[in-house]
Amino acid sequence: MSEPSLPIAETFVSIQGEGKLTGVPSWFARVAGCNLRCSWCDTPYASWEPKGAQRSVAGLLEEARASGIGHAVLTGGEPMIFEAVADLARGLAEIGVHVTIETAGTVHRPVHSDLLSLSPKLANSTPIDDPRDTTGALAVRHEQSRLNFDALNALLADHAERQLKFVVATAADLPEIEAVLGRLHDVAPQDVLLMPEGVASPDPDRLDWLVESCLTRGWRYCHRLHIELFGNTRGT
Ligand code: SF4
Repeated sequence: MSEPSLPIAETFVSIQGEGKLTGVPSWFARVAGCNLRCSWCDTPYASWEPKGAQRSVAGLLEEARASGIGHAVLTGGEPMIFEAVADLARGLAEIGVHVTIETAGTVHRPVHSDLLSLSPKLANSTPIDDPRDTTGALAVRHEQSRLNFDALNALLADHAERQLKFVVATAADLPEIEAVLGRLHDVAPQDVLLMPEGVASPDPDRLDWLVESCLTRGWRYCHRLHIELFGNTRGT
């Protein structure tokens, strides 16, 4: 049997910039490859034009161990489309590293994670009239694939520690979030995070509706600390 491996766009050590573990020093492994094509994707080198090298899980585990960092984030791209992500997550757990998996939740597979970070994609993500999609086929595929409620509910059933991060553009996204949550099982309000779309720091004057939504529903506002600290740069 061949050694398990993954296409990797980049690995790096930084602080976690989003979600419940914001600020925690982490070793990141970003897979190259995604089954979606979000219009606003901030890692096109892992989705629209995936670039990376095939790396063995053993080598990645050695790098994570050598970093001495106690938290790992498996992100993408879409980690769950690759079978070997389960090997990497299990190996990290075996060396005592806390594992976060960041996924859009379109694919279910049994995998270890200490925090499952689900980011269901809203209609604002569909690449309508995107020049990178000359035939429109990718927009159609994205729209058909972006919400898989069977996969989302199976992932939620497997992982007690979870967060649901929604990338929001305007207040018009709120009814869709409510509709998505209505089809998911056992999601507590404190596990729902709203993150403003964009690769620059959001204008506070334009976020009143978002803050109000969190206050009235018990959801969390999700900052992007890495954008604040480093800008939209690779390896952060
Ligand atoms: S799911 Fe994530 S990696 Fe894939 S296209 Fe959307 S934002 Fe980019």
